[in-house]
Amino acid sequence: MKTFKNYIDGKWVSSSSHRTFESINPATESVLGKFQLSNAKDTKAAIKAAWRAYKRWRLVPAPKRGELLLEVSRLLKKNKKRLGRLVTQEMGKVLAEGLGDVQEAIDMFELMAGEGRRLYGVTTPSELPEKFCMTVREPIGVLGLISPWNFPFAIPAWKIAPALIAGNTVVFKPASYTPLCATRLFELFDEAGIPAGVANLVTGSGREVGETIVTSNVRGISFTGSREVGLSIKQKAGLKRISLELGGKNPIIVMDDADLDLALDGCIWGAFGTTGQRCTATSRIIVHEKIYEEFLDMLVKRTRKLRLGDGLKPRTDVGPIVSKKQLESIKKDVELAKKEAKLVIGGKPTKINGKGFFFKPTIFTGVTPKMYIAQKEVFGPVVAIMRVKSLKQAVDWANSTGYGLSSAIYTNSVNNAFTAVRAIEAGLTYVNSSTIGSEVHLPFGGVKDTGSTREGGIGAIEEFTETKTVYFDYSGKLQKAQIDID
Ligand code: NAP
Ligand code: MG
Repeated sequence: MKTFKNYIDGKWVSSSSHRTFESINPATESVLGKFQLSNAKDTKAAIKAAWRAYKRWRLVPAPKRGELLLEVSRLLKKNKKRLGRLVTQEMGKVLAEGLGDVQEAIDMFELMAGEGRRLYGVTTPSELPEKFCMTVREPIGVLGLISPWNFPFAIPAWKIAPALIAGNTVVFKPASYTPLCATRLFELFDEAGIPAGVANLVTGSGREVGETIVTSNVRGISFTGSREVGLSIKQKAGLKRISLELGGKNPIIVMDDADLDLALDGCIWGAFGTTGQRCTATSRIIVHEKIYEEFLDMLVKRTRKLRLGDGLKPRTDVGPIVSKKQLESIKKDVELAKKEAKLVIGGKPTKINGKGFFFKPTIFTGVTPKMYIAQKEVFGPVVAIMRVKSLKQAVDWANSTGYGLSSAIYTNSVNNAFTAVRAIEAGLTYVNSSTIGSEVHLPFGGVKDTGSTREGGIGAIEEFTETKTVYFDYSGKLQKAQIDID
């Protein structure tokens, strides 16, 4: 069994804890490798290395930094097949999605490589003569990046690529369920020639490594994960810059004028793709009463046909849950949901060939906004069906949770579509497609308890830079804004 190491200051090093943890394939329960169970000392060493590297990295011309990111993108592309399979083996999503996860990282590194030749600021006229005004983008400093396990290449790429192009250096703590994907990514950074200390990898628990990052002298934190941990970071991080991407309870509204076959495809993909383990997964389907019975029947029939299994097998539609612990948590949520809503299909864990952490695709009906299953983010293949009388009620119910990440409406009416786009409280609204499917060059993030920051595309540049406002006075005399008015 191979033991993998941290990557600090350009070197592969063991933790001073001399302790390790295992990463497990959730479909087969086989062990993929051992990883450093790092401690505060390791984390602080990584932060120190990142500050040393920052002095030089921030002064490297951004297009030069971009060349390195482009090389990372090329290497990811070259290794896409191998890495896509690894995603499936380490976190369970089916191979087509594993490959998509890597593709998203390829795209993000490529986009941010190009950003090295943009990083636009603003120039604008001054109110005074012989004075020039502009803004420039500056790096923030050392950033602590903490990611979840559900997109083990894409989410790290969404954070690391924009952070580096802007001249920051980083300490990255991956989720403990997916340390091998993170290690493979850093092997490519090494191969691409990213300078020592610019990007550091520290594996280990959220409690030890995560909290040390949050409370040490990094200048900014980017975190994607649960609402609970996001809140605790906000409370502990003091005045650091914080970007939070928290959970969702994402609705699809299906109107009576929708193309029901299209809506069915979107609902199945949204609810059960990635086994429901996406922050943008569809977890509520809000259906107009006129087509309710017909659509529910279609949904249940299609759900019954989904094939559970190892994501590497071509016939598999739905892979396992990431871990035994997560499986237990889904089981508990389903038991609580059963007290209020009607379980129509699924509702149980299962094994395939006697192994793995599988959960049957699950549908609840008769759900109303105050119920547990209408509020709780399950993060599994569990969807709540709600029946409504009108678009107004559908939108009210869509907005009746604390979260506000993604949303969708299926309708053939332009008026319904625009009304929903304006009225739904969410960072993302899709018309006639599912709640999932973000592209790297557009801002991504939520409202309300999901967090208010935006990563992705130009949103990422805002998040990972400081704006400096620069005034040049070439009049040769003292000019006073707001005072020299005539
Ligand atoms: P999580 O428990 O919040 O963990 C996320 C990351 O934070 C992991 O790396 C974890 O480390 C670390 N962590 C745990 N406790 C910490 C602490 N006290 N201080 C600092 N870091 C800590 O979330 P998860 O269970 O992995 O992921 C599922 C959640 O992520 C869901 O709620 C989902 O909606 C959300 N998510 C959101 C988005 C989005 O963009 N909005 C995307 C994906 C997922 P360990 O792995 O070592 O525990
Ligand atoms: Mg967790």
